[in-house]
Amino acid sequence: MKPLILFVLAFFLTGVVPSYAEKTKVIASIAPLADFARQVGGEKVDVKLLLPPGASPHTYEPTPRAIQDISNAGVFIKIGSGLEFWAEKIIKAAANKKLIIVDSSSGVSLLRDPHSHGHRSADPHIWLDPFIASGIITKIENAFIKADPENSEHYRLNASQYREKLSELDTEISGRVKEFSTKEYVTFHPAWNYFSRRYGLQVAAVIEESPGKEPGPKHMQKIIKKIKAIGKKVVFVEPQFNPKIAEVIAKESGAKVLYLDPIGGQKGRETYLDLMKYNISAIEKAMK
Ligand SMILES: [Zn+2]
Repeated sequence: MKPLILFVLAFFLTGVVPSYAEKTKVIASIAPLADFARQVGGEKVDVKLLLPPGASPHTYEPTPRAIQDISNAGVFIKIGSGLEFWAEKIIKAAANKKLIIVDSSSGVSLLRDPHSHGHRSADPHIWLDPFIASGIITKIENAFIKADPENSEHYRLNASQYREKLSELDTEISGRVKEFSTKEYVTFHPAWNYFSRRYGLQVAAVIEESPGKEPGPKHMQKIIKKIKAIGKKVVFVEPQFNPKIAEVIAKESGAKVLYLDPIGGQKGRETYLDLMKYNISAIEKAMK
């Protein structure tokens, strides 16, 4: 058959115009990784986010669709260190021998999870440190070059430009944190240890030490005491979790409730840079 006929036939069969330059199909577990993939890959990649916006990776249950997506993908990007405790199963089920897996936490100096976060020993929230994020960019760049060597230069250029932006973000956050009058804060779930380590902040207490597990009365009293001891009375909630408990704590301790978002992918916080600027502004409002 002539190419034109094939083209028209493909259009009728699938309803889409076939593209001759296949884009690399990329699956990212959480929104920040999907954004990193788009920043590095640009128009050469087709990025799909596995977790729906507003979902928590700690309680996510993969759908049959997720297995399907991974079986068709060229690259799968995960945080690793136990965050995607469900990943191994779906990767096995997808049986995709060509799949390149990016483990964002490989080689990263991991913090021990001080709060038995889902009964795992390493704290997986590495992406909230922009310096570590910069290293993740390099891992994604290498994976894309491996999957699609023809466009190596494109990936290299995008990655280095984006690392530059992350470095600017890092400088901006450092500068703003210097002006804080308190360094301690109370967060909803234990996601902010890498962020705190990077910028010299301290998580004084965590409301939900294990995702999905409500704090008992003893723990509640401890948190309320902590908040009262900190000069700036604020408690942070997160959009992936029910804010009710935090509101009770806030009421009893006379604290304000503010939002921190470790994942983003929602309106106004679609990109990682927007997400981190949102978070630093929220923390600043509480601690300056
Ligand atoms: Zn988490």
